[in-house]
Amino acid sequence: MQNQQYENAKAQLSRVNQYLNLDEQTLSRLMVPDRFVEVNFPVVMENGGVKVFRGFRSQHNNALGPYKGGLRFSPEVSEEEVKALSMWMTWKCAVVDIPFGGGKGGVIVDTKALTEGELERLSKAFAARIADLIGENKDVPAPDMYTNGQIMAWMLEEYQKVTGLKSNAVFTDKPVEMGGSEGRTEATGQGGVFVLEELSKMEGLEPSRTRVAVQGIGNVGYYFAKLVREMGFKIVAISDSRGGIYSEEGIDVEEALAYKETNGSLQGYQKAKEISNEELLELEVEVLVPAAVENVIMEGNAEKIKAKYIIEMANGPVDPRADLILFKRGIRSVPDVLANAGGVTVSYFEWYQNMHQENWSKEEVTDKLRPIMGQAFKSVWEIAKEHQVDLRMGAYILAVKRVVEKLVSGC
Ligand code: NAD
Repeated sequence: MQNQQYENAKAQLSRVNQYLNLDEQTLSRLMVPDRFVEVNFPVVMENGGVKVFRGFRSQHNNALGPYKGGLRFSPEVSEEEVKALSMWMTWKCAVVDIPFGGGKGGVIVDTKALTEGELERLSKAFAARIADLIGENKDVPAPDMYTNGQIMAWMLEEYQKVTGLKSNAVFTDKPVEMGGSEGRTEATGQGGVFVLEELSKMEGLEPSRTRVAVQGIGNVGYYFAKLVREMGFKIVAISDSRGGIYSEEGIDVEEALAYKETNGSLQGYQKAKEISNEELLELEVEVLVPAAVENVIMEGNAEKIKAKYIIEMANGPVDPRADLILFKRGIRSVPDVLANAGGVTVSYFEWYQNMHQENWSKEEVTDKLRPIMGQAFKSVWEIAKEHQVDLRMGAYILAVKRVVEKLVSGC
């Protein structure tokens, strides 16, 4: 499975090359990370014993700027996974045209089995081991699966201690009081909303007549659903890992989430009927928004999707075989590298504010995010139209072209 991700990433790059005709040297350079590092480091456990953990950092490409990408803590982290994810980060940053390259890293660990103290010591030990690889102008990590702002704060503290440097721009998505940006919490959902706004203009979607189903009402899905509802779109279904709810009349997202917070799940919410996550994906809606986990639309259910548009807020929710089926059926899927790039864009804003000692308000952040997402969407749409390809291929063509132009002109 993990190997498959890296194979998929490389296969996508080969497909893009059918439209770009890169020379062999450039193509083979982009197929692999510039640098891949494995670290093994000891952590003192609560029982006084020492356990050795393994971590990775993959720096795929920095033609456009410092490597940028998350650090995940999960038992599934593998060399192949972080290599694939670092390549996708290169394309994501290039699609939205921010001056960052692609990186990714992680530690093989089940955080649920750690105490708070063990988690802090592990985070700091990992940060110390990768301290010479990263830096505000070199490689800028962020949180990812099972890591968060607190973990970035611990890592930053350790980084500053080990290197003697004072800058806080080396990690992003920090708590606001440690130099994090206003608006980062909403950023990924908000970026997706700007994408839907552009799509609506392009395709003449009228909000009040546009039904939207959102799978996964976590950070990304919640803000997406809340904000599009405020724009007049009708949220007819939402879900979490335990299942979903559906109402033809539309769902008050904030009320439903408050219910979930009190009751632990959406089940039993009186104003909507219960549905499964599989049923949610197959609803008759105009816009389907997978915002939870990868590989939810596969060969097996792609024929059953009734939505006209998919906005991929999760990473990798549509598998490559499903992609082909959706395209043939005329369903337009806005790819993750574009749809959820609002998050990394606001991480860039954070880095920029730290580097220039600025503090932007949430409104400034939102105002700066809108044109970036809008322009990226229009560019991807145009390229897809020009080459008669799906939006994912359009996004990759745009991204790879931007990176290669920079590689050729300088690096
Ligand atoms: P989260 O943990 O806050 O929320 C995930 C939500 O999905 C939860 O409501 C959970 O209950 C639900 N869920 C889990 N498994 C599910 C399943 N099998 N079916 C339906 N729902 C399920 O995570 P998040 O930060 O909102 O991230 C969601 C997705 O967006 C991930 O793929 C992530 O990689 C991607 N993403 C997040 C960001 C960000 O800024 N947070 C940026 C880019 C991409």
